[in-house]
Amino acid sequence: MVSDFETRLFIDGEFRLPHSGKQFDLFNPATSKQIGSVYEAGVEDVDDAVESASQAFETWSETPASERGQWLHRLADKLSENVEEMSRLEALTMGRPMHNDFTIPWAIEILRYFANRASDIQGETSLSDPSLFGMTVRQPFGVTAAIIPWNTPILMLSMKIGPALAAGNTMVLKTSEKSPLSCLVVARCMKEIGFPRGVLSILSGFGRPCGEALAKHMDIRKLAFTGSTATGKAIKKAAAESNLKNVTLELGGKSPLIIFEDADLAKAAVDAANSIMVVSGQSCMASSRVYVEDSRALDFIELVKKEITKIGVSGDPLAKGTLRGPQADHLQYERILSFLDVARQEKLNVVLGGDKENKAGYYIQPTVIFEAPDNSRLIKEEIFGPVLCVSTFTDEADVLRRANDTEYGLYASVYTRDIVRALRVAKKLQAGSVGINVTSPTTSLDLPFGGWKESGEGRELGKHALDSWTELKTILIGL
Ligand code: NAD
Repeated sequence: MVSDFETRLFIDGEFRLPHSGKQFDLFNPATSKQIGSVYEAGVEDVDDAVESASQAFETWSETPASERGQWLHRLADKLSENVEEMSRLEALTMGRPMHNDFTIPWAIEILRYFANRASDIQGETSLSDPSLFGMTVRQPFGVTAAIIPWNTPILMLSMKIGPALAAGNTMVLKTSEKSPLSCLVVARCMKEIGFPRGVLSILSGFGRPCGEALAKHMDIRKLAFTGSTATGKAIKKAAAESNLKNVTLELGGKSPLIIFEDADLAKAAVDAANSIMVVSGQSCMASSRVYVEDSRALDFIELVKKEITKIGVSGDPLAKGTLRGPQADHLQYERILSFLDVARQEKLNVVLGGDKENKAGYYIQPTVIFEAPDNSRLIKEEIFGPVLCVSTFTDEADVLRRANDTEYGLYASVYTRDIVRALRVAKKLQAGSVGINVTSPTTSLDLPFGGWKESGEGRELGKHALDSWTELKTILIGL
């Protein structure tokens, strides 16, 4: 239970009760039992947080960039002392195992990356018109917002607050209703180190009314969202219908992984297994569609089954050594099982798993499906679970067409020893990131990450992210 834990809203540097006094319940997906409840933010609380962020902006935006960076470093230091607690709370609320969790240390590294680059925001000059001295400057938007999903809350938080706060913005961040607790540890850490009040408020709440109120708020100038494509579209619409705020969207995926005959098959199998098993398949960039050249298909199937079975042993996400936890909640669980029902109805060739596990909690067997038809829902839709579809191909042009035949475009990979072919295929793949002989979750914190097509717009990480949290202004001086 989490009864001794601070669960109020964090607004203006203080924990406080919501206007409504309402709470909502949290459940442990490993047992499906209730573990406590958390205070819920409503529209009036959003208004309070925005008002506080607006006041804080006056000072924060005028604070030297290096000092803003130092505050982010202090926060990163404090978070480093609390990694285990945050990891435990995420395991408890959404089932990601504590054992070998890489997401929270990575989140802290991201915070430090942006802390070090707070002074790197620069403009340009122009002398192209002899009568003018022209320049551009980059300035913060003002009050901004972030709405994050449940699968990796601290990682998502760091990707939003790192560049936003380094660039001089203030922010109101809404966590997911499924896993709000670890971000409340961030709030506690901010209070403990005396982080300037109002610069970051953290609200627990639902999409409606809290998330919607942020998307529609007239005083918020930019909103960064990570979550499903459907919600991303709703947020963009709400933003367009209110004050046309700048919106960054990191959405879903159905990432293809292409393996040519000459590839290192054993490595491809290990990487494909790891990619689909990250957070029990609940990763936006999971390589969920594998296309393997016909002549190597049966060997690949055997290898990938072996790897998935090895790393797919399930257990209590709180216990040392657990490799795989449950799905995040009953909605995720039911949704994934409904895809497995479709596989049964369509009489697909399920070569591993294919059902729920026979135990308490929301556990689903790691599943491999061979040669599902290209128009099957399992090939077309994001399942967000431990379900890998493996198909064969014989022709490069044909596999590229099939790999790109999706509305998503977050990540794609190609495995081959032929560098020219690798680059030719990489050029043709419609995705924001392409891995050559690596696959997701491999990214680099100094390079942009984001989606093409319905996987989103805008970029996180790297210098692009820092720039994306600023408005450009052109200044012209008559000579
Ligand atoms: P979701 O869209 O259901 O919810 C995400 C967040 O949006 C939550 O905080 C939720 O409360 C909020 N929300 C819901 N409706 C809203 C509305 N009408 N207005 C404002 N906010 C609203 O997604 P989820 O189930 O939490 O996460 C899973 C999805 O996230 C998957 O599709 C996955 O691919 C995607 N995801 C993408 C990335 C990425 O970087 N591209 C990373 C992680 C997850």
